[in-house]
Amino acid sequence: MNTAKPLSLYNTLTRAEAPFVPMDSNNVRLYACGPTVYDFAHIGNGRAAIVFDLLFRLLRQVYGADHVTYVRNITDVDDKINARALRDFPDLPLNEAIRRVTETTSAQYQKDVAALGCLEPSIQPRATDNIAEMQAMIQRLLDNGHAYQAGGEVLFAVESMSDYGQLSGRNLADNLAGARIAVDVHKRNPADFVLWKLSSAEEPGWDSPWGRGRPGWHIECSAMSERYLGETFDIHGGGLDLIFPHHENEIAQSRCAHGSHAMANVWMHNGFLQVEGQKMSKSLGNFFTIHQLLETTDFGGRKWPGDVLRLAMLMSHYREPIDFTVKRLEEAVTLLDKWERAAGATDAAAIVAPDLLERLADDLDTPGAIGRIHALILDEGRAADGLALAELMGIRVKREVEVDAGVAARVAARLAALNARDFAKADAIRDELAGQGIALMDFKDENGERQTKWEVKR
Ligand code: AMP
Ligand code: ZN
Repeated sequence: MNTAKPLSLYNTLTRAEAPFVPMDSNNVRLYACGPTVYDFAHIGNGRAAIVFDLLFRLLRQVYGADHVTYVRNITDVDDKINARALRDFPDLPLNEAIRRVTETTSAQYQKDVAALGCLEPSIQPRATDNIAEMQAMIQRLLDNGHAYQAGGEVLFAVESMSDYGQLSGRNLADNLAGARIAVDVHKRNPADFVLWKLSSAEEPGWDSPWGRGRPGWHIECSAMSERYLGETFDIHGGGLDLIFPHHENEIAQSRCAHGSHAMANVWMHNGFLQVEGQKMSKSLGNFFTIHQLLETTDFGGRKWPGDVLRLAMLMSHYREPIDFTVKRLEEAVTLLDKWERAAGATDAAAIVAPDLLERLADDLDTPGAIGRIHALILDEGRAADGLALAELMGIRVKREVEVDAGVAARVAARLAALNARDFAKADAIRDELAGQGIALMDFKDENGERQTKWEVKR
């Protein structure tokens, strides 16, 4: 293994951190739940994408780039997608309208997460390309007594699984006692969940032995992970909100369909992102899409480059909640600027020395790794290693800045205006340059002459 210390990961299933031992070190297999493509992804979704991208990068570093398979699915069947299609394209046939919504939304997602420095996963399967696999799994669950048909649905029978609830630590008695929602009369147990449901003529549907219908949400990840990663694989990830019911139910489906002891050996969950101390929600007006942060000035009055957003995210450990604030983003800008300046003309080292991985190998201690980058570049004179570690984390420190040839002339014109005490003109030029993202710093040189330094702001 290419680390000084073995990789260790916190496992939600065992509630403990333990050394990571892949089933096959020639093919380490990771699955993360991806986006439901009905609208722009928000910055909370961005966090999940970044966390599992970081893990993917680390695994590639440790086991070799060709020895890791990362699957991130695209959920393109969902009632929210249907609603969006009806709203946006009322004149198109529903199938066509749905195709438009999912294609544009998933293309936007790819662009957004690429800007956040995320590599393309090895495989990005779409739910709609895996309906036959889902149906086969549902049939297996019916055949072995873990599912039943009732009220136009195929349901998973939670009582058929003796250890249902292990991941979330809920048992069926808790669920019953806590059930405040009206119980569907056709369910044997209120916790039974949908594997297949019938579609009306207006809803998208696929023919099946149980009538024309569509899959429930959980079955898609069970079917796709089986297809691309096998019945049992190494790591399954997603946001904390997915532990129950989504991941609990994925486990129930996969284990009962396969008769296996585990769906994935390690379950990892990223903490939630809140904005300025509050839950991000449309109604509070503090809901921000990745696209908005990158391309508009809605948050904090300026655009934020992807590298800044990524570093700001990684400044917190992935299991901690993040309070997403302008202050945090400004801190990230300051750090990147310091590193870029101090690194000067140095290039990233071609090889990441194993000792640099120590912090990340400890359950993705990104705050520790960022501290390490800082010390390497600023204190230890090891800028090449600092840059290599940043690059490994998907953070680009050095920018290729394109500067308009006219800038130097405008800076000189402002200096002349200052010397002529024409402060109004000097300020106007300063504002004009600020609008182009250029910051000016005045200073006196060794002869006591006024000079101006300038740099392109992030
Ligand atoms: P969704 O498209 O809502 O299914 O979510 C895609 C991924 O983003 C899942 O792994 C979610 O758990 C995660 N996620 C959603 N909201 C947040 C949030 N506010 N903070 C962190 N992760 C989130
Ligand atoms: Zn999933």
